[in-house]
Amino acid sequence: METARVGSYFLSSEFGDVTVAELPGIGALVALFLDPMRTAFGPCTIVSGKRSDAKNDAVGGAPESRHLYHRRPLQVAADVTFARGSSREWADFARRRARALGRGGVGFYATHVHVDLGSEREWRTSG
Ligand SMILES: [Zn+2]
Repeated sequence: METARVGSYFLSSEFGDVTVAELPGIGALVALFLDPMRTAFGPCTIVSGKRSDAKNDAVGGAPESRHLYHRRPLQVAADVTFARGSSREWADFARRRARALGRGGVGFYATHVHVDLGSEREWRTSG
């Protein structure tokens, strides 16, 4: 599909080779999490957005990973970094939003954070 602007800062192509059917979920992830985080922490890099089943297997993703946009297009995920702050600060910010919304998964990693639109969940790993 043609690249579309999503929210204030993002392009659909930054999330991968997405379909029109996946845009509403991406728009919600951006509106609820990524745009506010971008405003707080500066330019954002999407380290991992949409994955094919093969790609997810190759990177050792969970079988029901929200990176598999084609499976649950309204619960999409993105692994992100920002120009400012630390992954701990990004995760804290996202957790506060998830708690306020009663929605969203936030994973803390040493180098990035994972944010998705699934049920409210939190996890951390040293990896
Ligand atoms: Zn992830």
